[in-house]
Amino acid sequence: MGNSELVARSLAAVWHPCTQMKHHETLPLVPVARAEGAWLYDFGGKRYFDAISSWWVNLFGHCNPRINAALRHQLEKFEHVMLAGFTHEPVIELSERLSKLAPRGLGHCFYGSDGASSVEIALKMSFHFWRNSGQIGKTGFLSLENSYHGETLGALSITDIALFKDAYASLLHHSSTVPSPDWRFAEPGEYSLQYALRCAEKLESHLSAHHQVISAFIVEPLVQCAGGMAMYHPEYLKRARLLCDQYQVHLIADEIAVGFGRTGTLFACQQAGITPDFLCLSKGITGGYLPLSVVMTTDTIYQAFYHDEVTRGFLHSHSYSGNALSCSAALAALDIFEEDKVIQTNYAKSAQLTKMAKDLSQHPKVKGFRNTGMIWAFEVNNSDKNFSKNFSRAALDSGLLLRPLGNTVYFMPPYIINEQEMHFLVEKTQGLLEKF
Ligand SMILES: *Cc1c(COP(=O)(O)O)cnc(C)c1O
Repeated sequence: MGNSELVARSLAAVWHPCTQMKHHETLPLVPVARAEGAWLYDFGGKRYFDAISSWWVNLFGHCNPRINAALRHQLEKFEHVMLAGFTHEPVIELSERLSKLAPRGLGHCFYGSDGASSVEIALKMSFHFWRNSGQIGKTGFLSLENSYHGETLGALSITDIALFKDAYASLLHHSSTVPSPDWRFAEPGEYSLQYALRCAEKLESHLSAHHQVISAFIVEPLVQCAGGMAMYHPEYLKRARLLCDQYQVHLIADEIAVGFGRTGTLFACQQAGITPDFLCLSKGITGGYLPLSVVMTTDTIYQAFYHDEVTRGFLHSHSYSGNALSCSAALAALDIFEEDKVIQTNYAKSAQLTKMAKDLSQHPKVKGFRNTGMIWAFEVNNSDKNFSKNFSRAALDSGLLLRPLGNTVYFMPPYIINEQEMHFLVEKTQGLLEKF
């Protein structure tokens, strides 16, 4: 079967995500025949470097031999069983290991199937906690400007990206936003720390005025990814933790994108030394293999639901909660983190790629070049409103999978990226800039 036949069949039968399907009249769709390491291969043998880890999920490359082996091993035992009334080793071991690795005090793991559903779980648990505690007025949620927390109605309510939200505005629960500590908005001469502190003051005024009706404040720690790879100082998280405690508001850390080493530490919250009330994880959790998400929470939250009365319990469920194959892939990914000392190795890789990108960062069309851990981003000075589409298409032509967010081009490569691949990525991107 060739590329063009598959494209035609896909466009007829598959409604692709995050896509205006009509654009595929001109925009190429890439059928993947196989994938290995950081590379995707089409049916004509052309290969593409997966510089965005297949939408930020793939940490250790495609067809990773160790994750493959773990899945085969689990398949010999069983694939999935329901998690209400039953349990199994992969889900127990994953919960125990995550609790040891995450910020202290997050000893209870509740499983969902994707990122957005873990956000829904955290929102519902927070609201239900206050309800069980007799505080029925706490029904609102607070998020950062330019935040992204997923596309289901609850998660979209606390997302602040007009492109995804506006069409559904009348369906959404009311929520509020406070200014993002994104340092690109700092005054000239103002450090990212000073700007973070100034934003924390705005958070304080908001909480002091409205805390009685706010259940939780949700943040993407250190990097607001879908909102344009906006990076901020960890001090903001420290202040947010203190203020949430002071005003009796839960702090939800949405580490769906930034968790599992993306920002340089295993979890981004660790750079601020804080424990959130809820930690949402998904995307990289299975190394990019299978859908799985988890909400980790504290004993204080857990105890508020522990009661003889059934309706005080958390009755939320997903058919595939704690899927055994997904948990096995997640355990194999954690093994790789340990065996290959991935966090340490990534420090060196991060510095190396940043150094290689020096010319790129100083290119006359490049603004705001920034890096946190294994994320690099910059704005391209180009006023074409189709910049993103045209740039990704040109990138594909030169063998790169890149999907700019508006004018923001970013790299979020799998952690197995090697020196040669870094050169390839930087050089091809520099070449692309000559055309835009
Ligand atoms: C991707 C993402 C989500 C949603 O996860 P899905 O698995 O796509 O539902 C939520 N929050 C953040 C920060 C994300 O990057």
